[in-house]
Amino acid sequence: MSQLTDLAQKIRPSLALLAGEAEALRLDDAIGRLLREHADGVDVDGRLLDLFSSVPAVERFVDEALGRSTPPQPTKGSYDPLAGDRMGAAPQRYECPYGDHAVWHRVSLCDEVPLCAEHRVRLELVAAR
Ligand SMILES: [Zn+2]
Repeated sequence: MSQLTDLAQKIRPSLALLAGEAEALRLDDAIGRLLREHADGVDVDGRLLDLFSSVPAVERFVDEALGRSTPPQPTKGSYDPLAGDRMGAAPQRYECPYGDHAVWHRVSLCDEVPLCAEHRVRLELVAAR
């Protein structure tokens, strides 16, 4: 019995209060089917969450019952520390303003743009060609 299936059973008597009558019937039916699958050893947590979040009042109830700690969802919320650091597939090309004798590619926003060794000026971003 997972936290969510446990909650699904608790929420069933309250469905009529949280959702409309038709919606409550639909949810109760769907929860019943998922709980039967769960009893057969199928992981139904993801589908239970989808079901709960389809009705705002039910979603709030579930959020509160879970102490607002959303269980891990692989599709969103996985934090990648490098995500904000990458600028895309193509690195930006920098050249000395006096010519392309000094070329440098910026791969990460953390990289500091270097100076041209010959002219002691900062390299400038050139448009992709
Ligand atoms: Zn130069």
